[in-house]
Amino acid sequence: MRVLLVEDEPDLGKAIDRTLKQEKYIVDWALDGSEAWEYLDSQWTQYNLAIFDWLLPGLSGLELLRRLRAKNSALPVLMLTAKDRMEDKVAGLDAGADDYLVKPFGMAELLARLRALQRRSPQIQPQQLQVENLVLDCGNRTVCHLDPSGNSQIISLTNKEFQLLEYFMKHPNQIITTDQIRNQLWEASADSFSNVVAAQVRLLRRKLESVGDANLIETVHGVGYRMKN
Ligand code: CA
Repeated sequence: MRVLLVEDEPDLGKAIDRTLKQEKYIVDWALDGSEAWEYLDSQWTQYNLAIFDWLLPGLSGLELLRRLRAKNSALPVLMLTAKDRMEDKVAGLDAGADDYLVKPFGMAELLARLRALQRRSPQIQPQQLQVENLVLDCGNRTVCHLDPSGNSQIISLTNKEFQLLEYFMKHPNQIITTDQIRNQLWEASADSFSNVVAAQVRLLRRKLESVGDANLIETVHGVGYRMKN
């Protein structure tokens, strides 16, 4: 799950960013509306959820929302605002906000609202993905290998290995470039070394090898990778 957070108050932004990362979201944090629009307009990165503060330098959260919906994006958006006046709430919902949270709020409530948005989202992924004998459960975040007699063995993965495998399993038989993987699975602000993807793929392959699925992810030399199905 990749989230775009747009919040100009440093303390609040930092707190939300930290909370979301603890919950295994991949987070890009923009401090103003113009920066946020650059993230949203990028063809490289796809978000699953967005959190827009209402009052922002540059473009307001409301303006961001209007631009997004004008592009026919169905990205679920939670609006944050210090205002609790009814007309603001109506304007936000009219502009296409999916939910609304009035400051100050607790992190537990924010997380609950995001989970609800994920459940209602039209772009929600299937609960389970299967490629060959590998079954990935997006809900409880487990991966199993099924043997021919139907027994399943859980494969223990780190968070990054899980995200990487999930990405491959959502795009079976497609060539995925190293840049695509880096843009989708690493934070934009991350100091990404060119070999960070290759290193992570190597670790994931080692785990898959332990259950006999070492050849599922093939290297397409000079380009990237492909998951065979
Ligand atoms: Ca603000």
